[in-house]
Amino acid sequence: MRIVLLGAPGAGKGTQAKKLIDKYVIPQISTGDILRKAVTDQTPLGKEAKSYMDKGELVPDSVVIGLVKERLNQDDCKKGFILDGFPRNTSQAETLDGVLKDLNMPLTVALSVDVDFDVLMKRLTGRRTCKNCGQMYNVYFSPSSKESSCDKCGGELYQRDDDKEETIKRRLDVYKAQTEPLIDYYAGKGIIKRVNGIGDINAIFNNITSMLES
Ligand code: AMP
Repeated sequence: MRIVLLGAPGAGKGTQAKKLIDKYVIPQISTGDILRKAVTDQTPLGKEAKSYMDKGELVPDSVVIGLVKERLNQDDCKKGFILDGFPRNTSQAETLDGVLKDLNMPLTVALSVDVDFDVLMKRLTGRRTCKNCGQMYNVYFSPSSKESSCDKCGGELYQRDDDKEETIKRRLDVYKAQTEPLIDYYAGKGIIKRVNGIGDINAIFNNITSMLES
C-alpha cells in the first residue's frame, strides 16, 4: 500500500496515519515531523526551515523534496509507505511521481481527509502537546484535567509555534491555494478517495480502511 494523505492542517492526517502504520505495518513519512525534529536539533536545515514554519509558509521545495527522496530510498519503504504532509503543491506532486516511477513504486491511493474550516480553527488553536511524552490534547475537545500539565506523565503542555492564531490562518490559506488543488490532480489520475474527517477517530479510521480495501 503506497498512500499519500491529503488534508488541511488539523484534519487529523497524522492521527489516522499512526493508525494506518499499525494496521498495515508500513512506515509513515511526515515531512512536518522531520522538519520539526531538524528545528529542535538546530541542524542547518532546521535553522533554514524554522523561519518559514513559524510564518505558516511552505519550506522551499528543494529542501523538502531532498528529504523525501532520501527517505523513500530506504529499504523499509519497499513494502509500502504513508506520505503525510507531502506533497503540498503541484510541483512536489509531479516530482514525487517521477521519483516513484524511477523506483517502480507508483502510488496506490491519495486519500483526502475532509474537514470544515471552522472545525479546523478550533482543532488547531486548541491543540496542546506534552513536552515530555508527546501526548496531544485539545482545550475544546479533549482537554487535560489540569490546564497546563499532562494527565499521563505530568509533563508541561505547550502550543506549537505554528499553532498560533495568525500562523494558523496563513497555513489554512496556503493549504487552500497550494495543496487543495492536489485533490483534482489525483482525481485526474483516478486514485483519489475522500473521507469525512469529522466524528469519532475510530469510525473515521474504519471508513478509511474499508475504502482502501474496496
Ligand atoms: P505539518 O505538520 O505537516 O502541518 O507541517 C508543518 C510545517 O512544516 C508546514 O506549515 C510547513 O512550513 C512545513 N512543511 C511540512 N511539509 C511540507 C512540505 N511538503 N512542503 C513544504 N513545507 C512543508
